[in-house]
This record gives sequence, C-alpha cells and structure tokens, in this order.
Amino acid sequence: MPACNGAAFLKRIRKLQAEIWIDGQKMNGNICDHDAFKGLLKSKAKLFDLQMDPKNSSFMTYPSPLTGDRVGTSYLSPRSKEDLKKRRLTTQEWAKTSGSMMGRSPDYINTALMALGTAWDAFQDKNNRGKNLKNLYEHARENDLTFSHTFVSPQVNRSVGYYEDDDEPLSAQIVKKNKDGLVIKGARLLATQGGITDELLVLPVGGKFIKDSFVYAFSIPSNTPNLKFICRESFAYRGSTFDHPLGSRFEEMDTIVVFDHVLVPWERVFLYNNYAIANAMYKESNFYPFLLHQTASRQVVKIEFLLGAAQLIVDTIHIGEYQHVQEKVSELIIGLETMKALLLSSEVEAKQDKRGTMVPSENPLHAAIITFSRLYPRFTEIIQLLGASGLISIPTEKDFNSPLKNDLNHYLQGAFCNGEEKTKIFRLAWDISTSAFGGRQTLYERFFFGDPVRLSTGLYNNYAKDHAVNLAKSLLDH
Ligand SMILES: Cc1cc2nc3c(=O)[nH]c(=O)nc-3n(C[C@H](O)[C@H](O)[C@H](O)COP(=O)(O)OP(=O)(O)OC[C@H]3O[C@@H](n4cnc5c(N)ncnc54)[C@H](O)[C@@H]3O)c2cc1C
Repeated sequence: MPACNGAAFLKRIRKLQAEIWIDGQKMNGNICDHDAFKGLLKSKAKLFDLQMDPKNSSFMTYPSPLTGDRVGTSYLSPRSKEDLKKRRLTTQEWAKTSGSMMGRSPDYINTALMALGTAWDAFQDKNNRGKNLKNLYEHARENDLTFSHTFVSPQVNRSVGYYEDDDEPLSAQIVKKNKDGLVIKGARLLATQGGITDELLVLPVGGKFIKDSFVYAFSIPSNTPNLKFICRESFAYRGSTFDHPLGSRFEEMDTIVVFDHVLVPWERVFLYNNYAIANAMYKESNFYPFLLHQTASRQVVKIEFLLGAAQLIVDTIHIGEYQHVQEKVSELIIGLETMKALLLSSEVEAKQDKRGTMVPSENPLHAAIITFSRLYPRFTEIIQLLGASGLISIPTEKDFNSPLKNDLNHYLQGAFCNGEEKTKIFRLAWDISTSAFGGRQTLYERFFFGDPVRLSTGLYNNYAKDHAVNLAKSLLDH
C-alpha cells in the first residue's frame, strides 16, 4: 500500500506483536489499548490521516517513481529547492499537531532512509549490498513504513582507551555468520519508539571501528525473533488530556534494544565488513544535512509552540508590563527567528550533488542543532521563571469535577479567566517544563542527535576557516 491513512497504520502496528517488556512484564494484547502507548499511537495515526487529507496531499505526498501511486513526501529524494521546501512544509505540518513534542514522527527516519537509499550505489560491494539498501528504501516508501533506529553502544565506559573485550558481548555485534545471514548478540541504547514501529534501522556506531564485528548496517522488522525492547518507565501517567496535555498524547517511550542471537537475513544487510564504505557512508549519502534539515524544520515549530505557551502565561497572570518578562519572551522570539533564518539559509545555499540530489547546506544546519540544544533548556527555564508557583497550583480534572469546583474556579482564577481555564494553560506549561515528560523532552533536545560537545568538535574540524583567516591576515599590515 502506498501512502496510508491512520487506520491502516494502526492495523499494522496492532498485528506487529514485537517483544516489548514494560515494568518487568512482557507485553501481550492489543498495544493500541495499552496505557503507555495508546496516546502516542493515536497521535501518530492522525499524522497519516493528515497526509491523506485532500487539502494536504498535494504537498504531503507525491507520485511514486516506481508505480505512480502517491507516497509520503518524507520519502521524497529532492531534486530542486522546491522539493526541499515541500519536505520542510510536510515536516512542519506534522510537527504542528504536537507542538513538535513528537521528536520521532515518522519523517525523521524516513528522511534517513531517503538519504541512504538515494545514495545506494555508495554501498555497492561485491555482494551487491547497495541493492539491498535500494530495495529497503523502495519497500519502505511504497508501504509507508515507520522506523525506529539505534546507533549508540551501551554507556559502560566512555574513556578514550576503553576497548570492549568481554567474553559475553555487551555492544551489539556479529557473533556468527551463516548462509542465511548475520547473527547479532548484544545491546544498543537507545531506540525511541522501539517495538512500536514497523522496523528497526541499525546503523554503525559512530567513531572509529575497532572491531570487524561492529561493521554492519541493516534494517529488520521489529517483531524479528529474539529481538527485545526493554522500556523505561512510562511518562503517560494518566490518560486525561486535561491533567497531562502532552504526556497523555505524545509520550514516545525509549527502549533498550537487546539482540539475543538475532538472525539478520543477508537481503536485509546493506553494510558488512567493509571499512571504506562504513567510513564514507554518512558523507556520501548526505545523511547529516538531510536529517538536520528535518530536525531544524521540526524545531522551528517547537520554539513557536513554547513562545505561544510563554505568552499565554504572561497574558493569564498579566505580567507583560514588566521589562524582564518582555526580555525573557524576546529571548524566545530571537531563538525562533534565528532557527528560521538558519533553516532557510540551508535551503537558499542548497546545491545539487553528483547524483542530482538537492542537498541543503550543512553549516547553517550544524549551527542550528548546536544552538537549539542550548536554547531549549533555557526556554523551558524561562517558562518556569514566568510561571512560578502557578506551575504547581494545578488541580486535576477530577478536582474540577468535584464539589471543590467553585472554590478552585474562584481562588485559582487568572486576570481574565476562571480557575479551570487558568489551570489548563498552566498544566500545559508544566508538561513542557516541569513534569517527567517535560524533563525527558529537555534531555532529548540536548542529546538525541549526539553529544553537543562532539557536534561542536565536528563543526570546528570541518568548517572551512581559510576565508576568515585570510580576511584577518589582510588586516594585519594596514
Ligand atoms: C531522550 C533520548 C532519546 C534518544 N533516542 C535515541 C534513538 O532513538 N536512537 C539512538 O540511536 N539514540 C538515541 N538517543 C541517544 C543519543 O544518540 C545519545 O544520547 C548521544 O549520542 C550521546 O551519547 P550518550 O548518551 O551515550 O552519552 P555519552 O557518550 O556517554 O556522554 C556522557 C558524557 O560524557 C561526555 N563524553 C563522552 N565521551 C566523550 C568524548 N569522546 N569526548 C568528549 N566528551 C565525551 C559527554 O560530553 C557527556 O557529557 C537518545 C537520547 C536521549 C536522551
């Protein structure tokens, strides 16, 4: 099936029955009814409905190059700046449904697959593994599949000299190969939405490859035998959208992935034991510029959402006349305009690569991801600083449906609204800035794309500084 609607997506995920462990129990039954997942799955289903809505489908879908049927734009390999814009608008249309609190809407990894799949020739080896990648990309695009991914090894010992040599594999690695495929044993951290997407994309851990057994990349269905997803505690504590306006709908769940002798069929492997390909694959496929373009598009919507929430606080308790309040809200405005400018600059400076793919300019996007990882914690802090005790005086839906209602409406009223209306706004601000869900969002925006310290090192090392140095030199002698 090409681009699908929400019902078709939910039907697929219901049938998946991946091995998911939560609170020490193995999941069984209908995942779409489970308290930890039902809110998110419903919200994701809405994304699929949105792309099928006739008023959006002209830009959120496009004709498949294989069949002519309409497929999702997040799979579009851009050939022009207009295509890049279409990709941005698609991501932002989806992001608006959650204020961008769903970091892993399907377009994130669809974009990764598009980048890799478009450059499938760079993965060709004597066993034709590039073709496996091409098939995977086409299969995903034509069936509107969703993916989670993992490329981080367990956080055991990050010192420079550490070398894993336990007899029992810790980081997921190849322990055997046979005529059917590779056998993988060990763990990977983390997979957001692990077990609740159609497939799991497994890419090489970044940095130097110190062992042959780590040089692999593949994608497998989430219900592959011996593949386990171990969930953290759920932050969707209550189903009530009044009590947890964000957590109840957009809690994505993060999982530890355990491969317990998982057989990965050869036709699913697109990198094996080839250091040259492993070292070149991210650059060759323009993996980072494309993923960062999706990321910055989403983050622009997120700042806009936080700006709106901050202004709602200001209006609700009427604090807009204070200069420091204006300055704090202005910080959000400056952040929003900065991110928008970086994103658009990446499109203006986009260039076609040797395959004819229109690639957004990488430098502004690197600047954007590093900037955002600093801005986001500050913006949630600003929401705390503006909301103060209002972020804690937030009775529940049940309280407002009890004999306390009149007291609460009176004593918790805002400048121009009753207690219930004020509480709704402050609960939203609390779920952004103070709840477990909000705390995880902050951690996510700090780290999901990698450690910002090492991202900055990458920028430092790869940025062409000659022009700047020559300019400085030209002024030395005058
Ligand atoms: C909410 C959330 C969701 C995530 N979802 C996913 C996902 O779906 N898929 C996925 O693959 N990953 C996911 N990640 C993982 C993310 O990619 C990593 O957090 C990130 O790459 C940093 O790695 P780490 O967490 O292992 O931190 P570490 O590498 O262990 O870093 C810990 C600390 O040590 C410092 N440090 C460690 N090594 C070095 C070094 N060499 N040089 C300088 N400083 C160093 C870091 O700066 C940091 O302060 C997620 C992370 C979070 C927080």
